[in-house]
Amino acid sequence: MIEPFDKIIFVTRPVFPTIEEVTDKLRDIWAAQWLTNNGPQHTMLEKELKAFLKVPYLSLFNNGTIALIVACQSLRLSGQVITTPFTFAATPHVLSWNNIAPIFCDIDEETMNIDADKIESMITPKTTAILPVHVFGIPCDVEKIQEVADRYGLRVVYDAAHTFGVEIGGRGIGTFGDISMLSFHATKLYHTVEGGALVMHDEHTKQRIDLLKNFGIKNEEEVVMPGINGKLDEMRAAIGRIMLNYVEGERLKRKRLHAVYNEELAEVEGIKLMPKVADNVKLNYQYYVVRIDEKIFGRSRDYVYGAFKNFNVYTRKYFHPLCSEFTCYRQLSSSSSANLPVANVVAQQVLSLPMYGELTEDDVRKICAILKSFRS
Ligand SMILES: *Cc1c(COP(=O)(O)O)cnc(C)c1O
Repeated sequence: MIEPFDKIIFVTRPVFPTIEEVTDKLRDIWAAQWLTNNGPQHTMLEKELKAFLKVPYLSLFNNGTIALIVACQSLRLSGQVITTPFTFAATPHVLSWNNIAPIFCDIDEETMNIDADKIESMITPKTTAILPVHVFGIPCDVEKIQEVADRYGLRVVYDAAHTFGVEIGGRGIGTFGDISMLSFHATKLYHTVEGGALVMHDEHTKQRIDLLKNFGIKNEEEVVMPGINGKLDEMRAAIGRIMLNYVEGERLKRKRLHAVYNEELAEVEGIKLMPKVADNVKLNYQYYVVRIDEKIFGRSRDYVYGAFKNFNVYTRKYFHPLCSEFTCYRQLSSSSSANLPVANVVAQQVLSLPMYGELTEDDVRKICAILKSFRS
């Protein structure tokens, strides 16, 4: 008999800086008497993040969703954009907010990212861009996606909300495609409480995006485009600067816990572990996700999800339901299950297990023992 945990183990927990570090930074803000609109904390954080992420240009935002809405505006995307149904609701919603129809493309069985080989078949004369997501921090097939985009003259905007600090061959993940969006929400590996950023390749795009996130205000006399309020304030920028000192430590703790999960679950029939990546990929270990094949494991994902709660373990069914199942999208022809066979299977099998630096190795071993006890 395995005893339940004596406290609830959630799927993740935000990283908290010390209260002293925060009050120190608040003193700096009070001394500067500057709360928002491109203050000193904001300027410093942009500079520090560019270096940390190895990207040439970056623009901070109040959250990742507004950032992605602005990315579509800045490239003047319209018509249809090809994306994945296996993602967080924000991804297709951003297209809707731009009056763009999301077109759902099936995913790759191994990486769970958009299947680059199927994108071409989804292109129509109305297609203007591809919006892939590096799901669970595993990079998309960036080369193949760019090749298709180039062949058809399409833009590529990445939802890189899961990929803070990920690199391919020493190159920052944010530098692929035309623009990448990062989310700094509290539940992500790196956070500013709420926040986000866009990464772009040139000064001109950065200027346009900076205008769009500040109502299109160029100067006191001129408003040059219909912008929105996407600004990150000084308090959150200050927290972001503190959190930069924590992110590598948190990543390494999670890397260790990933290894423990992999070791404990490697031989369990019916449990598929996270996808393997090429040797030149630096991961961030933000999530730990398994897939449960009911036919082999003897229990369904939904059974496991429910049974874990009896042990005080609260897992999450990311991403179930698929975005193509939402009432606002299920009438689209690309939402049909015939178009999305792989995504429909993966969504029934996937389960996010607890992953955060404060978990101990013993906690992870116990979670794995509980999981194994469900076999039948
Ligand atoms: C978190 C997340 C977002 C939204 O980011 P916010 O900063 O919460 O607005 C978008 N896409 C994906 C895949 C996410 O995980």
